[in-house]
Amino acid sequence: MKIAIMGAMLEEIEPFLTHSAHEPLLANFRKTSKLRYGGNTYHEGKYKDLDIVLAYSKIGKVNATLTAATLLEKFGADMLLFTGVAGAVNSALSIGDLVAATALCQHDLDISIFGHPHGFVPEGAVYVKPATQLLALADRVAKAKGVALRHGIIATGDQFIASSERKAWVAQTFQADAIEMEGAAVAVVCDALEVPFFILRAISDAADMEAQFDFDAFLKESAKISSSFVIAMLEELSHG
Ligand code: SAH
Repeated sequence: MKIAIMGAMLEEIEPFLTHSAHEPLLANFRKTSKLRYGGNTYHEGKYKDLDIVLAYSKIGKVNATLTAATLLEKFGADMLLFTGVAGAVNSALSIGDLVAATALCQHDLDISIFGHPHGFVPEGAVYVKPATQLLALADRVAKAKGVALRHGIIATGDQFIASSERKAWVAQTFQADAIEMEGAAVAVVCDALEVPFFILRAISDAADMEAQFDFDAFLKESAKISSSFVIAMLEELSHG
């Protein structure tokens, strides 16, 4: 089985590229090669019996689409796990909390003037859902590790949200819990190509007036919380 691990920013996949004493499970990850393709670097390797391909896309939906499609089509990944950070929309979420997407939508996709709901285009769907078996696997890992893993709706758009008004609109329109800039693009690609996927985000900010400062302060820490969880999922997916 070949598993794609994807982030948007280098900081989100960096924990996989550096050997850290704090991450003993990573000792099972061996990098074998890397390839530049389409402006991104793809790292290939093994985690125990699993083949791994690892990349970050750069920020935004278009970059994420290119990378997700490349991971599936060029590298032949059978499954995609996304790891990264997001802004909190649901006020019950705090910095560092882990959110596994149960559904993803594009909050900036808007042909509503024609009477369509926000986030909808013909032959598409407002919400795309990750693989239930991967959500169930994540729940098992969370329980075994004693980690609090929330489930939530993630809204994606090509904007860094640092506004309580926009945040409130996204919360109300999409019942979203967290907001970021890539997840729904990855979801659309994986759904169309029928590859199971899982989108995990650790909260880095509250998408409010303080968001850019919180983001800078918590990016690395939150990225690591998310990547550590994905490593634990790999451990569960591997056999021996
Ligand atoms: N500081 C960076 C830009 C970060 S953009 C730079 O200057 O290069 C924010 C990234 O984190 C995106 O990849 C997005 O997916 C996620 N993110 C975290 N908080 C967010 C928020 N409040 N709104 C939108 N995206 C957010």
